[in-house]
Amino acid sequence: MMTIAENLKNIYEELPENVHLVAVSKTKPVSDLMEAYQGGQRIFGENKIQEMTDKWEQMPKDVQWHMIGHVQTNKVKYMAPYVSLIHGVDSLKLLKEINKQAKKWRRVIPCLLQVYIATEETKFGLAQNELLEIIHSEEFKALEHIKVVGLMGMASFTEDQEKIRKEFQFLKDVFDYIQPYQLANCHFQHLSMGMSSDYKIAIESGSTIVRIGSNIFGSRG
Ligand SMILES: *Cc1c(COP(=O)(O)O)cnc(C)c1O
Repeated sequence: MMTIAENLKNIYEELPENVHLVAVSKTKPVSDLMEAYQGGQRIFGENKIQEMTDKWEQMPKDVQWHMIGHVQTNKVKYMAPYVSLIHGVDSLKLLKEINKQAKKWRRVIPCLLQVYIATEETKFGLAQNELLEIIHSEEFKALEHIKVVGLMGMASFTEDQEKIRKEFQFLKDVFDYIQPYQLANCHFQHLSMGMSSDYKIAIESGSTIVRIGSNIFGSRG
């Protein structure tokens, strides 16, 4: 059995320099996160706000916490003091709530807009026209305590590598299309795509942030 630190080292060895690794630690105990931390990892991803906040309280303060799951509006307040990046933002309503909570802490919270790229009905995210509608709206332009720094997407859960590649390529095309569009609170620099099973395809398709859980910490059972 390989240790968490060894798994991390192996992934980093083949990760291009411009690609950031989020260690997805959902459901895992703090002792596992600490092993990764001692192996040098500083960015951790969680999909539940309560669990992330518990871990934030226990872990060293130089950890960057990324919220990668679907965010309920009424829970934004719990992570507003500390969250580093919210990946799954999929509505103007949620952006407004993040803005409101960030303002209380005099922060600007970086966000990624989640785009729907899979063909499954269960995946969250914006359609391309909804994305454009949000970033071109006057309401969005008035939000001073959020900053949209890129896009996030999840490919279909399938063995079909070509299908996955097409979905990632679609997201890269959307990214390239809106990349020149810039506002004070909007600058597309990051593309969060790729998990344990498909991150290599994602990197080939232009990902700059991969979110890897089971390949580091083992399966979640
Ligand atoms: C759980 C999760 C991951 C990591 O999945 P693995 O297959 O364990 O690498 C990545 N992104 C999101 C949004 C997740 O919920």
